Amino acid sequence: MDGLPKCGANYVPLTPLTFLKRASMVYGNRTSVIYAGVRFTWQQTYDRCRRLASSLRSLNIVKNNVVSVLAPNVPATYEMHFAVPMAGAVLNTINTRLSAKNIATILRHSEAKVFFVDYQYVPLAREALRMLMAEYQESTVTESSSMPLVIVIDDIDSPTSIRLGELEYEELIQHGNPGYVPDEIEDEWDPIALNYTSGTTSDPKGVVYSHRGAYLSTLSLILGWEMGSAPVYLWSLPMFHCNGWTFTWGVAARGGTNVCIRNTTAQEMYGAIAMHNVTHMCCAPIVFNILLEAQPHERPEITTPVQILTGGAPPPAALLEKIERLGFHVVHAYGLTEATGPALVCEWQARWNHLPPADQAKLKARQGISILTLADADVKDLKTMRSVPRDGKTMGEIVLRGSSIMKGYFKDEKATSKAFRNGWFVTGDMGVIHPDGYMEIKDRSKDVIISGGENISSVELESVLYQHPSVLEAAVVAMPHPRWGETPCAFVVLKKAENKVVKEADILAHCRGNLPGFMVPKKVQFVDELPKNPTGKVLKVQLRAKAMTLVVS
Ligand code: ADP
Repeated sequence: MDGLPKCGANYVPLTPLTFLKRASMVYGNRTSVIYAGVRFTWQQTYDRCRRLASSLRSLNIVKNNVVSVLAPNVPATYEMHFAVPMAGAVLNTINTRLSAKNIATILRHSEAKVFFVDYQYVPLAREALRMLMAEYQESTVTESSSMPLVIVIDDIDSPTSIRLGELEYEELIQHGNPGYVPDEIEDEWDPIALNYTSGTTSDPKGVVYSHRGAYLSTLSLILGWEMGSAPVYLWSLPMFHCNGWTFTWGVAARGGTNVCIRNTTAQEMYGAIAMHNVTHMCCAPIVFNILLEAQPHERPEITTPVQILTGGAPPPAALLEKIERLGFHVVHAYGLTEATGPALVCEWQARWNHLPPADQAKLKARQGISILTLADADVKDLKTMRSVPRDGKTMGEIVLRGSSIMKGYFKDEKATSKAFRNGWFVTGDMGVIHPDGYMEIKDRSKDVIISGGENISSVELESVLYQHPSVLEAAVVAMPHPRWGETPCAFVVLKKAENKVVKEADILAHCRGNLPGFMVPKKVQFVDELPKNPTGKVLKVQLRAKAMTLVVS
């Protein structure tokens, strides 16, 4: 249609910040946040965020400055998801399991102006700051070498005397202005958050999220998960992981209640579920083991199903079946830091309802189809950029396209251009597409085992190992083989009681009964635990190095 402006006068940039303002008006008296004995309403949360934003402004925080935070899932971390961008700044939540060295690197690379530190992490932060200071002193480079302003977050329920830096979080709230009116967002592509990848396969990179991407991802997830009005959301997933897969903003959009806990122990999770009638939670599949291994006295009966969104690693079908038997209802999603959290979701089809539980679990273990607001997701042969056939067998690389894919890596143009191919973001994950269009990950491209010319999926093999009743955790990597080039080597953690009884031959017999011969591991190595990175992902690089030293059975 001719004669219309390209962008109408009614253009308003998309931003998840609108969810909080709306929540304060529509659900003003509803409980927004619960943490130990502390409760806030949506009106109070909105006021607290405005106060904090105004205090940040009076500390000279300006547009696009980075504000870093090292804290568990406490109310302050939640509030900063709104308050920091309301001040025009960019929120950088740091994984609390990182080393002081990693944290110093992030503070330096992000040029953080403010560093909020929860009292529990003061020793770690102090060490990181010491390293940062030393780096700046040794450095000959003059670009932005000022130390961040440090602000401690004390426990809001039971204050301590632990301090770091000059200021404390609640002081900023008290002295802030509850009538603060944030500047309008100028452009929806402006940055809202900066999240560093865990660096499982390469150096950590700073992924920049836009207001637009965060807004669209949030909508996709609350719709895709059918999160109705007033959910009671348990923070079992760290908020520092892709901004809690965007549910930090999503719970405000639904006028729900955020149940904050410091630690994801069975006691804290089951305690919160029982006390607050939790309806929703997110977690990596590894957390299923914590829930399953809890002592009977720690585990309340779950009368109304708790909805779990799981992802971050492949959930073995056997584990899905077990956790659902406890009263949880699981939806499986796949994503990565670069995709603002989940990008695929295994949307359930009513026609699967009548299938036996084991078959349902197998379908659920597939990573699924693109979330609602992603433009496209596909599995392609990277050499030709053609889609692989929908046969559930031909492997290709998972590629994604759309607004919730990151703008790029902060200060790293080379890595950014390498990450995209013809506008598609290349995930580094190998998968297949089934005839129904659902995608299934077979491996990270670096983890595929090539044995005698056959591609072996370590994920497939691990899911068979998890079916063995004595296996608590399993990971499979390639080990050298004189005839086949590579062969699978399984690292297995047994459940405590079975430690002395189960032998390598038992595990191999189980594999032979469930896998074609070429996929059966040639070696099973029992270990006390699997090496993991700070986000709980198994460090296959370390296992591969160990497998190199082992001899085929
Ligand atoms: P990093 O790449 O630094 O480990 P992420 O935390 O973003 O950082 O991890 C993303 C990776 O996690 C994906 O590329 C994929 O390999 C894995 N992953 C995430 N969700 C799933 C899932 N549902 N099934 C299988 N693998 C998954």
